[in-house]
Amino acid sequence: MSDQRLDIVIVGGGAAGLATAIFARRNSPELSVAILDGAAKLGAKILVSGGGRCNVTNVKVTTADFQGGSRHIIKRILAEFPAEDALEFFREIGVNLHEEPNGKLFPDSNSARTVLNALVAEAQRLGVSILTDCRVQSIEKSPLGFTLQTPSRFLAAPKVVLATGGLSLPKTGSDGGGYALARSLGHSIVPTTPALAPLILEGQFHAALSGISQDVELVLHVEGEPVTRLKGSLLWTHFGISGPVVLDISRFWHSARINGRRAELGINFLPDIDFAACEQRLIDTGTRQPTSAVRSILAGILPARVAEAMLNHLGISPTVQMAHLTRDDRRKLVHGLLKWPVVVKDSRGYAYAEVTAGGVPLDEINSASMESRQCPGLFLVGEILDVDGRIGGFNFQWAWSTGFVAGRGLAPFLSR
Ligand SMILES: Cc1cc2nc3c(=O)[nH]c(=O)nc-3n(C[C@H](O)[C@H](O)[C@H](O)COP(=O)(O)OP(=O)(O)OC[C@H]3O[C@@H](n4cnc5c(N)ncnc54)[C@H](O)[C@@H]3O)c2cc1C
Repeated sequence: MSDQRLDIVIVGGGAAGLATAIFARRNSPELSVAILDGAAKLGAKILVSGGGRCNVTNVKVTTADFQGGSRHIIKRILAEFPAEDALEFFREIGVNLHEEPNGKLFPDSNSARTVLNALVAEAQRLGVSILTDCRVQSIEKSPLGFTLQTPSRFLAAPKVVLATGGLSLPKTGSDGGGYALARSLGHSIVPTTPALAPLILEGQFHAALSGISQDVELVLHVEGEPVTRLKGSLLWTHFGISGPVVLDISRFWHSARINGRRAELGINFLPDIDFAACEQRLIDTGTRQPTSAVRSILAGILPARVAEAMLNHLGISPTVQMAHLTRDDRRKLVHGLLKWPVVVKDSRGYAYAEVTAGGVPLDEINSASMESRQCPGLFLVGEILDVDGRIGGFNFQWAWSTGFVAGRGLAPFLSR
């Protein structure tokens, strides 16, 4: 065992840990900063992000893009290092970003590797020590700050940053161990759930539709009340449903379930019209095309396989001519189009979730510095906090913003 003393030890070298290290050294080049990461290689999650292209941030980031702790605190932190500053920061370190649909910003290289390499190179240029295969097992308060234990050594530092992420995609190294470290230093944890996770459905309706993607509105009813409506692209899969709109609604489904509330999910295939307008549309079509099969009319509204599956499921013959569609069947169809119930068995869990909801409560942090209110000298950044963003680059923006605030917060304190 060797003992080493540093000014700042950052536990976790993902997006938030790297950003914190860079901004801490930029603010205070005289301070020794080390990142300790339990994984053999740094940045596995950055590399898989955005389908391997890394959606670094979004042109428009507001508090409405996040769930979790106080909106007011989230707003203050984001305002310190908004998306424009992230864009400029990445340009400075050699990564130019371009905009794609829904305001998503990706590196021009279309490679997440470019983002990771640039962050690591900048940290190294600034003299940050990076130790991989170095999992922190415990952190204890000591008269001079903190003592950290890893399998091979003890380290001491007056300031420690927890940047250990959440529980999503645990094979990347983010296995929730950071919550135990935070707890041991006096923090509470808002119960966690997977967020941005695909959903497993009961029944077999989805199985035949695997691979089909379509724009829909998802409506989540909790205890019978429609509490969340989200529009976007849904992907049918062999296990159920995925795609951006499903990932986004999954955290609300989990939140209802963890609170013991009855949650029901429905798909609205025609979100821009109501029941009467939808029924009238079918009546008008029947008048104009009385001999057309209902299957071909429906295939003009939905992907053909979804139309066929829906008719079969409703017990309506796909070949029935529009002129012979009974009033009851027409109404059944309208109901199906506007409120197709899907029974969620579960989500695919942390192994497939892009982010974790819950974590260290924001009101246990000083938002001007990211320093813990429970344990002075401890700082917390990134996904370990009780904040989760929707799909679109918002989770990385949270990592950059909290890293910036911590990097600045660490400096004056230490240089006094
Ligand atoms: C498949 C996938 C795709 C995604 N795509 C995007 C995207 O395109 N855009 C976006 O904004 N967000 C995306 N996200 C979310 C985003 O990657 C995370 O929100 C972000 O990486 C969190 O950063 P972090 O630094 O807080 O935590 P992490 O990236 O999870 O890093 C935590 C680090 O801490 C280390 N660690 C944990 N415990 C210890 C310990 N005890 N000792 C030492 N080290 C430890 C881990 O090894 C890990 O390296 C995606 C996530 C996934 C899973």
